[in-house]
Parts: sequence; C-alpha cells; structure tokens
Amino acid sequence: MADLLLENVYKVYEGGVRAVSDFNLKIADKEFIVFVGPSGCGKSTTLRMIAGLEEITSGSLYIGGSKMNDVEPKDRNIAMVFQNYALYPHMTVFQNMAFGLKLRKTNPKEIESRVKRAAEILGITDLLERKPKALSGGQRQRVALGRAIVREPNVFLLDEPLSNLDAKLRVQMRSEITKLHKKLATTFIYVTHDQTEAMTMGDRIVVMKDGLIQQVDSPATLYEQPRNVFVATFLGSPQMNIFQATLEKEGDHLFVSFGEGQRAEFTKTKAKQLSNESYVGSTVLFGIRPENIKLGKEGIQAKVDVVEHLGSETIVYAEVKGLKDNVIVKIPTNYEITEGMEVRLVFDMDRSHLFDSETKQAIMGVPDVNKIPAAVENGDLVLGKQRFPLPESVKERFFDFTLRDLKEIRVPSGEVSTEALPDSIAVQAKVDFVVPGSDSTAVYATTDLATGQFVFRMKDSALKAGDEVTLYIAFSDISFHSEDGLRLNSREKVSDNKAPCVVKTKDGKTSVKVGGKTLVYPDLGVKDGAYTMRLLSDKIGFVFDKKFAKKNKIERVDAANTLKAKAYDEDRIGDKNAVYCSVKGFPSYVTAVLPAVFSVYKMPVFKFVINQDSFVLE
Ligand code: ADP
Repeated sequence: MADLLLENVYKVYEGGVRAVSDFNLKIADKEFIVFVGPSGCGKSTTLRMIAGLEEITSGSLYIGGSKMNDVEPKDRNIAMVFQNYALYPHMTVFQNMAFGLKLRKTNPKEIESRVKRAAEILGITDLLERKPKALSGGQRQRVALGRAIVREPNVFLLDEPLSNLDAKLRVQMRSEITKLHKKLATTFIYVTHDQTEAMTMGDRIVVMKDGLIQQVDSPATLYEQPRNVFVATFLGSPQMNIFQATLEKEGDHLFVSFGEGQRAEFTKTKAKQLSNESYVGSTVLFGIRPENIKLGKEGIQAKVDVVEHLGSETIVYAEVKGLKDNVIVKIPTNYEITEGMEVRLVFDMDRSHLFDSETKQAIMGVPDVNKIPAAVENGDLVLGKQRFPLPESVKERFFDFTLRDLKEIRVPSGEVSTEALPDSIAVQAKVDFVVPGSDSTAVYATTDLATGQFVFRMKDSALKAGDEVTLYIAFSDISFHSEDGLRLNSREKVSDNKAPCVVKTKDGKTSVKVGGKTLVYPDLGVKDGAYTMRLLSDKIGFVFDKKFAKKNKIERVDAANTLKAKAYDEDRIGDKNAVYCSVKGFPSYVTAVLPAVFSVYKMPVFKFVINQDSFVLE
C-alpha cells in the first residue's frame, strides 16, 4: 500500500522563505494526483519533501501508514522523474536504466528482466543499445521514466517531466503517462504549472498559491465549483470573466446589477445556493465562463470590440457599458460576427459564480465544508437540538481548555454517507434540492443541526427534492474549531501528564521531587507526603536547548525548575504546537502546548519550565 498522508506540513527555508504552509492532504493508493499552480507556489518543495530531498520544517509525512519524516530518501521506496532527465551520455539506454539497480547490487539477471519489462511497457525495446545522443527528446524522457520504473517504487514523483518537450510531443507524452499509470497501478504525484496537463491527467488536482492549498478536487469539480477567484481564473481558457456587481433582491428574485444599469437574474435553484443573505445590497464579484455566455436577441447590451475566429470556435471580446474589461464570449464558429456589431449577451446563470469582493471566496454554490455551531455539555456534543455523546476516541484528543472553546464543528461535504458508519453521528435530513455536477451530485438538505442548509456531495445519488434520509458522519471526519476558526482537536491522544512525586515543605520553601529532580517553590501550603503531579498542557513553558540556541544565535534565558524533555512528535493546532515528549518520572508521554514558532523537528531536546501554575498536586 502506498497511500500518503501529509499533515500540517510546513517548509521554511533558511533565510525565512515560507515555501509551504499548513499542507494537509490524503493521497489514496494508486491515485494520480497533480499539484498545479504558478511558478514559486511551493509545488516542487512539497514534492521534494515527500521524496526526502528536502527536510520537513514541521508537520508529518506518512507513506503506507509509516511516518517518513526522518527516513532516508533511498529507504522511502519512491522514484522521482525530473524535467531535465539527466541521462549519462556515455551509457546506453540499457545501462542508464540499469544503473540505479546496479548501485543497489541487484542481481544481474533480475536487472535484465526488470529493464526489459520496463522497456516493453514504454515501447523502447529497440532502443536499448543506443546512446542518449541518438534519441529524440520524447525517447529520452521515456528512458528517464524507465529508470524510475525498474526500481518498482510504491510512489512515482514527477516534477514537470514534459516541460522540455515541444508542444506536439507533450500532448503525446501526456496520454502515455496516463496509460503508464494505469499499467503500473501505482501512486503518481505529478507537478506542473500547466493547467491543461493538470485537467487531463489528474484523478484529483491540488491547486496551490503562495505555499497554500487553494482547493483539492476532481478536475470537473474544480472547474464547476471553484472555491475562490484564484482557482476560478487559473483553470479555463480563455479565463472566467469576473467583474464587480451589486447583489439585489426583489421578492424572491435575486439579481446581479452591473455596468450602466445592466441586470441578470439568477434561477430559483441557483438563488437558493447563496451562502448568506447579508450579501444582498452589497458589492460582490460576479463570475461567468466564456462558454456559458450565448449571443441572443434579448439580454445584456454589448458591442463587439474584437473577434477571433479559431476555426473550431469564435471568441468574442464584447464591451459592456460601465465595465472596465471586455466580457469574453466563446461560441461555435460564427463568421457573421464582426467588430463594432451591437450584440446581446445571454448568461447561463445556473453556471455563474459569486465571490466575496474582499476575501475572494465563493459565496454561492456547493461549499466544501459545512460549518455547524456546536458546544460541549456534560461530555455531549450539542448541535442545535441534538445531543451526541462524544466517544472516548474523540474526547482523548482534546485538551481540557480547548473543549471549553468549542464553537463550531466542520463537516466536509464529501464525507457524508447515507449508509450507517461506526463511531458516527446520525442526522435526519430532508432534501431541499439537488445540483447535478459532472462527477458528483450536490444535495442541499434541511436538518435539525441548527444551521439552515446542510450540503453533501455524492458520486451516485438518486435523491430528489422532498426525500427524507438519514445521514451518517464519522467522528473522524469532523474537525472541531474555536470562535476564531482554530482547530481544537489534536491527532494523538492527549496524555494525562501524571507522575508520582514527593512534596516536602521546610523553611518556607516547598520542594517537589519528581523523576529524580527537585523543583523548589515558595510554600505551596500542602501537607508533606506522596502526591500525583499533573502538568497542565497549556501552562508549561520551555527553554531552548543550549546547542540549538547557540547555532541559531538565540539568546538563551535560564530558568529555574526545569525538566528535560525529549520530543518525538508534534501536531500543529492553529497558532499553537502540541508536542509529545518523554520526561523522566512520567510513565506515559507528556503533552504540552507551545507557541507554533517552536518545532520539535528543529529541536527535539529542550527543557520544560515548570512554574508554580504549570501543575496541580492530586
Ligand atoms: P514551484 O515548484 O511551485 O515553482 P518551489 O517549491 O520551487 O515552487 O518554490 C517555492 C518557494 O520557495 C519560492 O519562493 C522559491 O523561491 C523558494 N525556494 C525554493 N527552493 C529554495 C531554497 N533552496 N532556498 C530558499 N528558498 C527556496
């Protein structure tokens, strides 16, 4: 199995460049996933962290369920194919492909059979005795792929492998790589800045910008339901028209008005998908793709500015009074359209988009998560009128203080089932309406979870308006958040942080002996004797390790009452970092919540500062 899990992965290069921030992604075994985004958005860095060529600053990487952060690249069972295929010029194709296996001292017979098999898969059997200079660009790239295939890796990483090829060859290699993925039935992670490659090759696409994931979805869903203006305009050519408009409502009719008195009305179903009524009356960004506009007899008045006849289609750049940019229209070839002509534009409003003018996030359409107001009372999760007992598996991942802060749970719209699930909540829902998409159907339903609408997406759904259905949501798919949106649950069980200790007061000073160390405080006013010390996760301080402080030129503050901690993992929660450490005297690990600037990957050994308010005696 070669499924991958990246959790809260960050990469900060020396000098402070934040290349990747809070990258969270599950990649299924045998999936073909594409990372796409403009140059510098962090695609290659992410790929290189997966390969082990770049250290992960913080966060975790799992491959096939095993943590890989500290595993050597050669032991990760991964093969990487780069843009410049770097073949050895003095070696034949066979020798180039065999080289890596030879270094690993693989049996020569095995090498021969693997190289031959790979050559067959790639259709280069008759090239095996040639040298690279006698090969075309496409053939060389195939050899580079072959070199990866012979290693029989669990995961293939491909970093812009086609960008050195000419346009025609790129198209051909694109489909060859897709076929290769099917043949090898292995996980593929493919990096490109080319949206066409992304759209045609990926099962799923990860769109990145400035080191942050913008959206992860199937190509069709990304195209039809972009979550923000960046995704909307990054995919599609010519790109989506986006212009400022005012959202207006008259009775139950919803419109956008723009330009000089132009107006377009949403269909009833589309109008219901507005996420928040408070947008009515305000300025929003309206989006519509060129192919979702037609020329008609009635509609928005426009004048043709430029026409491009591309043979298979005609692109019209139309001027609408009061709009800064031309509206781009893509229609079937029509040589009758000429520059200067007065036309009417008809928008397919069911396929239109609406974005917040400040945040640039989508405010209409299928949301990727449902945000539901929540609280915890007596160990029950309270959602509207419903109460659900929190299972132990959830409770143990909360710190006491975070449970108090719970204000909202988030349920991804793609993680809802109509079949019973273990450890889940069951919710009664009534279907309001459905919105079909190319590869999934979005169902808008009413529930008694206190929010208006609950939206979920399903691959095959026969649900229709009026149907009543029970929805199951696994606790493991629910994330818990505070008022300001911070995630409150940690990945691992939070330890109870308890250790036996001996307390003694003398001359106005209380000493607490724990794990062979004596901590000294002003008189704590407790009777002498044996106690249990419980450290409070969010009240523990820390001081830098001496060597680390020196190396990073950090002034090291000395503190009294410290315990040496050796960390083995961390989990980022908002602007905090939960660290899991072993501390002498504590039978189980100790969990502490420290500022997120601290990362155990940079400094696995440090000291906890145990102040008077960092613990209780029980
Ligand atoms: P992409 O693959 O999307 O083009 P990269 O992952 O290569 O982007 O780069 C992401 C960011 O990290 C960029 O701002 C880049 O300049 C920076 N970066 C990449 N490698 C290094 C490095 N070795 N040292 C410092 N900054 C780097």
